Amino acid sequence: MTRVFNFSPGPATLPEPVLRQAADEMLDWRGSGMSVMEMSHRGKEFMSIHAETEDLLKELMGVPSGYQVLFMQGGAIGENAIVPMNLMGATGRADYVITGDWSKKSAKEAKTYGTVNFAASAEASKFSAIPKQAEWKLDPGASYVHICSNETIGGVQFHWTPDTGKVPLVADMSSDILSRPIDVAKYGLIYAGAQKNIGPSGLTIVVVRKDLMGHALPITPSAFNYKTQADADSMYNTPPTYAIYIAGLVLKHVKALGGMEAMARHNAAKAKLLYDFLDGSSFFRNPIAREDRSLMNVPFWLKDEALDAEFLKGAQARGMVQLKGHRSVGGMRASIYNAMPVEGVQALVQYMKEFERSHG
Ligand SMILES: *Cc1c(COP(=O)(O)O)cnc(C)c1O
Repeated sequence: MTRVFNFSPGPATLPEPVLRQAADEMLDWRGSGMSVMEMSHRGKEFMSIHAETEDLLKELMGVPSGYQVLFMQGGAIGENAIVPMNLMGATGRADYVITGDWSKKSAKEAKTYGTVNFAASAEASKFSAIPKQAEWKLDPGASYVHICSNETIGGVQFHWTPDTGKVPLVADMSSDILSRPIDVAKYGLIYAGAQKNIGPSGLTIVVVRKDLMGHALPITPSAFNYKTQADADSMYNTPPTYAIYIAGLVLKHVKALGGMEAMARHNAAKAKLLYDFLDGSSFFRNPIAREDRSLMNVPFWLKDEALDAEFLKGAQARGMVQLKGHRSVGGMRASIYNAMPVEGVQALVQYMKEFERSHG
């Protein structure tokens, strides 16, 4: 068996010990005589997995008692509609901060459910930096302010938490959830698809301040109504049981490694290796403002894009895959989530050095 260094933006690489444990438990989960996939979601075995996963998430993220954790479906793109359906009813309007393709997509989806105001946009500078809060035009009557904490395609990340006063801050954290400590109390709602930094696709994590639930627009489907799901312990409909189980194994693994502080150190060290190399290179470049660079997704461009295919082919031959940039921006992108080992980034930088030497 050979495992590659998988730089995919998502679904993304998972910790090998987690995959091994899942393989060991595939046919018979702890003497139950069945796979987790075959269990009733209301049976005591799965209920224990569900509760443990939720507890681990709360512990690792430091979720305060006034917040509800929900395990939902529909992904972050689903949440782009589910969030406004649940929260926009407060005043009928919401602020969106546009820092890249994902936040732009969120804002577009929200327009169906109320008035969307672009509080700030970095589109004019091709999303190469996060707009400073002093430049934002916040609406004090907004139902919420929406940000994307890490733009997976553009490679910009918030390294500070906006202050939105009494207006709840909503963040799409799909690609940097659990990558560093955050203060959940500063947010009204956090959502994330699981497939970047937590587990398999199919599971969507929502952490919502309890007082924000219960005001959904009447059109909201009941399976997507936060209050309905909260009252049913995220079991109003059948939850993505296997994805929740794998997420639980990942969370246990992350806790054993030292939790959020340890992840933050690990991720900062990996990103530094790559950015330091990029900054010293005249062959590769990353155009993002230094203070706003993503520690999770590092886009980079070769001096001559005619060499892109050869670069990717050579990477593949060395066991490094999924480095092609998003089709909308081209170039390359290395996604280096929690589960990417430092050895993967070292191998990439080594290869980039060799490639520069032979083609520069
Ligand atoms: C991947 C991603 C999405 C899309 O998630 P889906 O699960 O495909 O709906 C949305 N936002 C961000 C920031 C992402 O990284």
